[in-house]
Amino acid sequence: MKTPLSPELRQQLATLLAYCREMGGVDFYRGEHDPPTSDAGPFPSLPQQNPTPNPLTPEPLPIMPVKSSLLVAPTAIDFSSPAIAPQARAAALEAIRREIGDCTRCQLAFEGRHKIVFGDGDPNAELLFVGEGPGADEDEQGVPFVGRAGQLLNNMITAMGLDRQRVYIANIVKCRPPKNRVPDPAEANTCTQFLLRQIGVVRPKLIVALGATAATYLLGSKAALSVLRGKVHDCMGTKLIVTYHPAYLLRDPRQKAETWKDLQLAMKFLNLAPPKRTEG
Ligand code: SF4
Repeated sequence: MKTPLSPELRQQLATLLAYCREMGGVDFYRGEHDPPTSDAGPFPSLPQQNPTPNPLTPEPLPIMPVKSSLLVAPTAIDFSSPAIAPQARAAALEAIRREIGDCTRCQLAFEGRHKIVFGDGDPNAELLFVGEGPGADEDEQGVPFVGRAGQLLNNMITAMGLDRQRVYIANIVKCRPPKNRVPDPAEANTCTQFLLRQIGVVRPKLIVALGATAATYLLGSKAALSVLRGKVHDCMGTKLIVTYHPAYLLRDPRQKAETWKDLQLAMKFLNLAPPKRTEG
C-alpha cells in the first residue's frame, strides 16, 4: 500500500522537481525503484544536450589568485574541549555576531557592502556548508545563499534527505566583494577568524566546502579542486569534503553529476539516505 506524502515532503519534492525542470534535467536523486542508468549522475540528459566535452572530465577551474605566502593555515578548533551545550549554541553564535558588529576589519567594509551576512541554520547541525562570499541577493537580505545559487543549494540539501533548517550555512567572507570578485587573502584571512569560531560552536560532524575559495582557506591548501574532491579530509578536528560551488554549477550544469558524487560521499559519511519517492 502506498504511503501518502506529508505536506512537508510534498513541498520538498515540488521544490526539487521545479528546479530540475528549470534546468532541463531529471531529479537530483534516484529512487530505489528507478531503472538502472549510466553513471552520469542526477542529470543524465544534460550531456546529450551538449555532447562535448566529456561531462565526466571537469574543465579547468579558474586559477585562484592566492599566493602560498599569503595563505594562513587555519587554527585547529579544539574539538576535545567541552562543547557548548546544544541549547546554548544559538546564544553563543549571537555573541559572535554582536562582536562582529558593524565590522570594518577588512577592506570589504568599504567596497559597497550593504549587510553583513553572518550565517544561517541550525546551531546544532551535523552538516555545515561553507561558500565563498555573499552575492547581490545575500548582500541585500543579510542571509547566505538566497539567490539562484542558494535555490540550487537548497535542492542539493533536499536531495540529501535534509532540509535547510537542519544544516548550517556560512561563507569565507561575510561582506560582498565588489562585482563578486574572489576575496583577497587579507580579507579572507581576517574574516575566517569568525567563521572558525562559528564552526567551533556548531561542531558539525562534516563540513562541505563549496568551491575552491572555501577549500583553500579551510584546508590551508591551494591544491586544485580536482585534487581535493572525492575524499574526506581532516579539518581542524572535524571532517571536510570539497565540491563545486552552486554558482559554478549554474554556469556549467554538466558538473552536477560530479557534485552528486560528492554529496553521496557526504551522505555515506553521515549515514543519510535520500528521500524515497512515493507515487500518488
Ligand atoms: S568581510 Fe568579514 S572581516 Fe571584512 S569587514 Fe566584513 S565582516 Fe569584517
